[in-house]
Amino acid sequence: MDIRFEEGLRACINCGTCTAICPAASFYDYDPKKIATQVQSANDEIIEALLKSDTIWYCGECMSCKTRCPRGNTPGLIIMALRQLSIETGFFVESEKGRQVLALKRILGGSILRSGYCVHISAMDHAMHPEQGPVWGWIRENAKDLYNRLGGNFEEEGAGAMRKIADEDLKELERIFEVTQALSRFDTIEKFSAAKAKSMGYNLTEKIDDPYFRMVYTANSGKHKKSRL
Ligand code: SF4
Ligand code: SF4
Repeated sequence: MDIRFEEGLRACINCGTCTAICPAASFYDYDPKKIATQVQSANDEIIEALLKSDTIWYCGECMSCKTRCPRGNTPGLIIMALRQLSIETGFFVESEKGRQVLALKRILGGSILRSGYCVHISAMDHAMHPEQGPVWGWIRENAKDLYNRLGGNFEEEGAGAMRKIADEDLKELERIFEVTQALSRFDTIEKFSAAKAKSMGYNLTEKIDDPYFRMVYTANSGKHKKSRL
């Protein structure tokens, strides 16, 4: 059994404390108490529906639920295990938020492997972040001057913020991704995403402006928030 199920769920008593403290539950149509109950039911149909749903992708993994549960449960850990299962089974492509795992894999995962940073300004396409207005574009154009004025060492060898990460460190990072099976999970995400793209009439490529990737990245049914918001 996944250690996160063992550590995360020891007989939920449905008290709802986790839902009361959960920041995601106050914003999204999301209820960690309900998920704990559904997993505890051990009903294959219910759990499969969960793996295909948007629900498991709303959690912010903040682990606030760990701090208050009277049973010592951690719904956030249960969600992490469900996400992994959703990826391994390919069910993640059945939901809008699940399909966006492809964007996380390519943008964050790819950035870590390429540069050593989760997010690096030189790799940002600010056209994909209209919410930032012209600010990110300006920062990108003036990045070296701006970061160095703030005490950084932008894309240069040696110490300091925003420095170039040494090749041997990048190799070590890749090795960590390999032994933790993150790389094979990345392959799984690409494989199931390509199959889903094909079923929707797309031919998934690795380009940043790939039509399926853009569609997945920008999709928003508008049905995720709590109705009272
Ligand atoms: S706080 Fe703990 S016991 Fe209460 S509903 Fe959440 S997981 Fe169950
Ligand atoms: S880890 Fe997830 S379920 Fe737990 S409080 Fe944070 S957002 Fe809610």
